[in-house]
Amino acid sequence: MADFPFADRLAALPPYLFAGIDKAKAAVAARGVDIISLGIGDPDMPTPDFIIEALHEAARKPANHQYPSYVGMLSFRQAVADWYGRRFGVSLDAAEEVVTLIGSKEGIAHFPMAFINPGDLALVCTPNYPVYNVAVNFAGGEVEYVPLTDENDFLPDLDAISEASWTRAKMIFVNYPNNPTAATASKEFYRKLVDRARETGTIVLNDAAYTEMYFDPADKPCSILEVPGAKDVAIEFHSLSKTFNMTGWRIGMAVGNPSLVKGLGKIKENVDSGAFQAVQEAGIAALAQGEPLVDGFRKVYRERRDAICAALSKIGISHRVPKASVFVWAKVPQGFTSAEFCTSVLERTGVVVTPGNGFGAPGEGYFRISLTVPTPRLEEAVSRIASL
Ligand SMILES: *Cc1c(COP(=O)(O)O)cnc(C)c1O
Repeated sequence: MADFPFADRLAALPPYLFAGIDKAKAAVAARGVDIISLGIGDPDMPTPDFIIEALHEAARKPANHQYPSYVGMLSFRQAVADWYGRRFGVSLDAAEEVVTLIGSKEGIAHFPMAFINPGDLALVCTPNYPVYNVAVNFAGGEVEYVPLTDENDFLPDLDAISEASWTRAKMIFVNYPNNPTAATASKEFYRKLVDRARETGTIVLNDAAYTEMYFDPADKPCSILEVPGAKDVAIEFHSLSKTFNMTGWRIGMAVGNPSLVKGLGKIKENVDSGAFQAVQEAGIAALAQGEPLVDGFRKVYRERRDAICAALSKIGISHRVPKASVFVWAKVPQGFTSAEFCTSVLERTGVVVTPGNGFGAPGEGYFRISLTVPTPRLEEAVSRIASL
């Protein structure tokens, strides 16, 4: 059988940096060790029943068996607008400023195709969710990485980006609460970013997937759209995946500047045919009635965060106690690289954690722990790490 070579865009993908860990994991598992994976950020708790019931009901409607609208049902987009109003005090025109996505990853991956020409520059804050740089490269664009460092609270130093780069950059990718560093951004930060982007005509893409996974009501993350003038330059990607434990359902949204929303809609019109309407109806139920349950999920994550942070402190591993996200970002002890440390933890305890350099060069020296593991397993992992 012929073995067809992949296109250049696939050949140019960055190497799979977790390959070493995967190999080590297989070797440890082969010794019969009970592996606990704190590697993946996929909520372990099930989708709430009332959302499943809403899907059941919606799936029985013949109208939902036909092609959906590629930009989404107006009723779902209105539910998103209502939710943004209640949650952030942001008013959105459901028809012009909201597009339904088949998960926010779909939208983020397609967005550069609508606005990046070959050779155009995009700024990507890193360590980062790998979809950003890959999507820019798939669209033929170039990436300039903006480092996120501990000294700057894992926020980009906007003044350190050169005038030439600001002028050339078509877009900048930011993500708060951040994966993998678990950092959060203040409204002041977004204000500065929006002001700078308005001066230079740069699109701001904010990935807000984790705004609802906060641990204390006093630390509620904000939306970039809360900042005056944000709609001039910004599009915000959000998702029901993490908030309502719906990663498998594939439902998300992008909101903000109408021309940015429209451009993304044009790509979707030509690539996919939108999200299953029954899933959108279930999404409406989630957005309208889910808040009390989300509050319960937050409590679970908070307990887990406290357990992990206490264990890390006990064994002298430096970290910041996160205010949001489902991750803890910790420093590897002196004398190890990220990969060496993660391999050693795996070999000595059977616990999988993710090496920080897998998310970009400034992640070297760190590792990421995910809180999306049932609490008893997390406690078992904690006790194994504490006995290191
Ligand atoms: C999980 C995650 C998403 C959400 O992806 P969906 O496609 O909506 O499931 C987006 N951005 C980041 C940084 C994530 O970690």
